[in-house]
Amino acid sequence: MTHYDVIVIGLGGMGSAAAYRLARRGQKVLGIDQFAPVHNLGSSHGGSRITRQAYLEGPDYVPLLLRAHEMWDELERDSGRSLFTRCGAVMGGPPESRTIAGSTLSAEKFDVPHEILDAAEIRHRFPTITPAEDEVALWEPGAGFVSPEGSVAAHLQLAARHGAELHHEEQVFTWTSTETGVRVGTASSYYTAERLVLCPGAWAPVLLADLGVDFEVRRQVQYWFEPADVRPFVDHPVYLWETAEGGQFYGFPAHTAQGVKVAVHLGGTPCTADTIDRRIHDDEVRAVADVVGSRIPALPAAFRRAATCLYTNTPDEHFVIAPHPKHPRAVVACGFSGHGFKFVPVVGEILADLVVDGATRHPISLFDPARFTP
Ligand SMILES: Cc1cc2nc3c(=O)[nH]c(=O)nc-3n(C[C@H](O)[C@H](O)[C@H](O)COP(=O)(O)OP(=O)(O)OC[C@H]3O[C@@H](n4cnc5c(N)ncnc54)[C@H](O)[C@@H]3O)c2cc1C
Repeated sequence: MTHYDVIVIGLGGMGSAAAYRLARRGQKVLGIDQFAPVHNLGSSHGGSRITRQAYLEGPDYVPLLLRAHEMWDELERDSGRSLFTRCGAVMGGPPESRTIAGSTLSAEKFDVPHEILDAAEIRHRFPTITPAEDEVALWEPGAGFVSPEGSVAAHLQLAARHGAELHHEEQVFTWTSTETGVRVGTASSYYTAERLVLCPGAWAPVLLADLGVDFEVRRQVQYWFEPADVRPFVDHPVYLWETAEGGQFYGFPAHTAQGVKVAVHLGGTPCTADTIDRRIHDDEVRAVADVVGSRIPALPAAFRRAATCLYTNTPDEHFVIAPHPKHPRAVVACGFSGHGFKFVPVVGEILADLVVDGATRHPISLFDPARFTP
């Protein structure tokens, strides 16, 4: 039976990137996922993910984002796919809101090109947006959106091209790690390797129950609306808006013929990855149309469709990327708390560094799960 250098459990956003980076560095890789390639049952589907560097979640993320944007360009070249649309981002809200204060702090600290716009300038530059009189926005021209499905497909294709063995529709039931190696059990077989990488997304509470992180999995919904006139939404930035009422919604340009995507970032019903309610309810469609319509009145004219998606939140909404504290041969990447996709290529690079070199030059101390252990 083949003995691998490394087994990657989970081939979604993060795991597919890790499999590619590891295979490219000459590792003998086995990747395993319970579902078919590029499925819509986890966290990496829905056609678009915002990426931005004026990072309201904290300046510590910016060095990773500077590298991630380089790597998205590289991934486009290596895969021959178009993955990153640089349409710019408008982050709006009250001047003292976390959205404005946080994104300004990150932009200033790292010289991320940006402008601060008052309400009149917002209306002038982006006529679809109707800010409240006292709201401002940070305009980041280098931001945009990436394709989650395209990214997973590209990473899987490149991983296979570099010799990774990829098993789909094979669920991992158990894994163990000893001083001499790791062993992974699935419905059909056992596999052994020197090291393990776990990227289980919303299944982290199942596969990483002894990590010491109190994950909260939440049901989120992505909505597609059709404005009466789609033309003003075609050449349009992505946006993220925090209202004084405490809502935070975001959306994308009309980049396909399937309607214009919007969603609400906060909230969501706690659930598990296996028991999430996938039905869409009329009252939630009305609620999102109201909050989006409060600032972009022409957008939610007709509802087209919606799709559920999973967030895996940590208590402080920062990621977990580290060697497993109880199993030194295992490295984990999880708890992306609804903002991980833009980091996918650099997370792949970090995981490959941790497996191959035992360390990484990237700053990841913020993501140490030890922060949750008293
Ligand atoms: C609605 C929504 C909007 C978002 N918007 C943004 C955004 O605009 N910008 C941004 O940066 N981020 C965004 N995110 C977050 C981002 O998409 C996630 O952080 C990212 O997709 C997480 O990737 P992952 O690899 O951890 O999870 P996944 O891609 O779900 O991968 C986990 C994989 O593990 C597999 N797996 C789990 N258990 C097992 C097992 N036992 N055996 C075998 N396989 C297993 C699963 O099948 C799955 O394929 C959004 C998320 C959602 C849901």
